[in-house]
Amino acid sequence: MKAQPQASHFIDGSYVEDTDGTVIESIYPATGEVIARLHAATPQIIEKAIASAKRAQKEWASWSPAARGRVLKKAAEIMRERNRELSELETLDTGKPIQETIVADPTSGADSFEFFGGIIASAMNGSQIPLGGDWAYTKRVPLGVVVGIGAWNYPQQIACWKGAPALAAGNAIVFKPSEVTPLGALKIAEILIEAGAPKGVYNVIQGDRETGPLLVSHPDVAKVSLTGSVPTGRKVAGAAASQLKHVTMELGGKSPLVVFDDADIDSAISGAMLGNFYSTGQVCSNGTRVFVHKAIKETFLSRLKTRTEAILIGDPQDEATQMGPMVSLAQRDKVLSYIDKGKAEGATLVTGGGIPNSVTGEGFYIQPTVFADVTDEMTIAREEIFGPVMCVLDFEDEAEVIERANATEFGLSAGVFTADFSRAHRVVDQLEAGTLWINTYNLCPVEIPFGGSKQSGFGRENSAAALEHYSELKTVYVGMGKCEAPY
Ligand code: NAD
Repeated sequence: MKAQPQASHFIDGSYVEDTDGTVIESIYPATGEVIARLHAATPQIIEKAIASAKRAQKEWASWSPAARGRVLKKAAEIMRERNRELSELETLDTGKPIQETIVADPTSGADSFEFFGGIIASAMNGSQIPLGGDWAYTKRVPLGVVVGIGAWNYPQQIACWKGAPALAAGNAIVFKPSEVTPLGALKIAEILIEAGAPKGVYNVIQGDRETGPLLVSHPDVAKVSLTGSVPTGRKVAGAAASQLKHVTMELGGKSPLVVFDDADIDSAISGAMLGNFYSTGQVCSNGTRVFVHKAIKETFLSRLKTRTEAILIGDPQDEATQMGPMVSLAQRDKVLSYIDKGKAEGATLVTGGGIPNSVTGEGFYIQPTVFADVTDEMTIAREEIFGPVMCVLDFEDEAEVIERANATEFGLSAGVFTADFSRAHRVVDQLEAGTLWINTYNLCPVEIPFGGSKQSGFGRENSAAALEHYSELKTVYVGMGKCEAPY
């Protein structure tokens, strides 16, 4: 098989297999072909991984932050050297075109290792608090064993975005990739060992929605960081809360992108296309509700249609391909059923809406789709579709569009296109979201915090802010005189 790893799991520095676990088939979305066969972790494998992380964490946390940082920076260097190979694997795992994976997937993982490796030497400092004669100091300490659970849309990036801050702060991690994309995380684990990380600080185990709860409820786990859907987030946060564990929740969205009539229309169309079609629309922060001012609606839609119909769909391994298939047949069926609902509920189909004729074979392809005349109550305007389906809604008034943009349980991201900078800041101030963009969309460099509000989650990934979610403060009061008591 094309992408069969040495074994299903990577524990304590080595590949480990247990064929008693349920079979997980890795399917190449462009052809439907099985490219690897792995096994979900059995309870024995889970115990082994957590025990290994628990043991390794003590040693790792005793290293100076600068020494840990050196390992992470080395891992970033190796990832960059192997960018081509890692990107090809990511393309097989997800079906995303190589044109994208080569610039956006392992590279963003490497950025994360480089960033946290670089800042950690000065980021773990505590403070000294004078109290007259006595004094106190604080230390920033790791939490212990962290569990990371990933979604299937950015497998390598998610494995790194959770691993890099967790490891930098002195934790060990057990990472479970999505059962749909099991391959990339194993390579990250291998690379960390090669970069000098002690065995057991970064373990990968395979599994599905039956495996996840066993990790979350394990008594030796101090924190869970999940990237997934809102329903899964509710279950995982609930289970973690019952044991008072720390959590980071990176969940779904239905983000608004507001285009005012003074915006640079071509630039706004680029933002809307990036925010709906990149990764075949499988991006959590996508601006899937595109509110376009009525005065520019016709121009916006006609240019958008032309540009959307020119997107090159095809073989993800061809460098020219701009859009690959969806990650799985189930996901494509889900998206097609939303397209049917859009048509049935009266939205106007501007382009797309089905399976492209240009590709043959068993791949899970779908056309980039634009609906216009979408209204707030329609299913396609309320629910996360997680595919290349853009909903264009009309508006006329600033206050009205802000209210409508916020009328959702989600709060992951939002965007505004306008030439009026006071308006841009006024509007983003009122939009309820964790990450917002002005005159661009979906750019998430590691330097900036990323995460959601409302039902889209809590905690932040990337930037120095992420370290706060992988460490806690320890306070030490130092008595300098005699200890006095009233009795
Ligand atoms: P999902 O919720 O189905 O699964 C996510 C992960 O959780 C998988 O690894 C799955 O095996 C695991 N899981 C499922 N049930 C579990 C349980 N009860 N306990 C523990 N683990 C469990 O999501 P998905 O379909 O893989 O990914 C798509 C979703 O992820 C979308 O909603 C998308 O918006 C979201 N997402 C969010 C971000 C973000 O950063 N906010 C990024 C990417 C994707």
